[in-house]
Amino acid sequence: MENIIEVKDITKVYGNQTAVEGVSFHIKKGEIFGFLGPSGSGKTTMIKMLTGQLKPTSGTANVFGEDLANLKKPSAKKRFGVLTDNSGLYGRLSIHENLKLYCNLYDVPESTIEEVLAAVNLQNEKKKKVSALSKGMTQRVTLARTLLHAPDLLFLDEPTSALDPVNTRHIYDGLRALNAKGTTIFLTTHDMEEADLLCDRVAFLNKGHIQLLDAPDRLKKQHSDQTITVELLTEEKVVLPAGAEGAERLHEWMKTGQIATIHSNEPSLGDIFVQVTGRVLA
Ligand code: ADP
Repeated sequence: MENIIEVKDITKVYGNQTAVEGVSFHIKKGEIFGFLGPSGSGKTTMIKMLTGQLKPTSGTANVFGEDLANLKKPSAKKRFGVLTDNSGLYGRLSIHENLKLYCNLYDVPESTIEEVLAAVNLQNEKKKKVSALSKGMTQRVTLARTLLHAPDLLFLDEPTSALDPVNTRHIYDGLRALNAKGTTIFLTTHDMEEADLLCDRVAFLNKGHIQLLDAPDRLKKQHSDQTITVELLTEEKVVLPAGAEGAERLHEWMKTGQIATIHSNEPSLGDIFVQVTGRVLA
């Protein structure tokens, strides 16, 4: 499959602070790729480099086959969208007016506005001025703006950090729908559940290094302790090894109809992150 992003041995140093060191990875077309790590681990720096806002100190990367230095060209810019803290919205204009401006800029029909407002659950708020919105609402408008031109590639920096659970769900649905239409997504987050729900592959970032990179399910299998927990109808819980010995006891209980539930004891991505990096996510 075609790679949309290829990063080779990238390092970024600010003064005497190394933010990203010797990082390499690739992202395939159509993937949702999670760049995970606690605050200060280099996530925003990576997005800034991959969108041409910041030059790497060393190493190379290309996006859509273009060198990073060429990403400022309008033809390249049109193909990706970036959602960061810096909203780029006009406070004195309404949500709808803001989106209309971007429709003109991206050459997108105004009818798209309703679609993107529905994706972020803001259809009924479109007349509100942006200056009167909460942080979470502003974040949703920013995401709606990013969705307007259905970019081939979308960079999202902590997209749900200011949202409540209901709106977080709306954003997840919106992102999945966009991905199903073919948009590749590069997502940074410190929320491991979010990464597990959305991402095809994740990279664990620790102090500027990638420590682990794989599909969430594969990581969970690799770090599983190979046991299952069986809850019996008596409410007793028994942990069994997944091998032959466990199977025999399980078979016996099944024959006699004693089982209430069976769970595999896979760790969460958060557990694995702590195990591998020795750091807690914050
Ligand atoms: P994250 O997005 O994971 O929170 P950042 O990429 O923002 O991490 O930051 C990574 C490291 O680089 C941090 O130690 C941060 O303090 C440092 N850093 C980020 N931007 C700058 C800057 N403009 N000047 C100096 N240091 C910076």
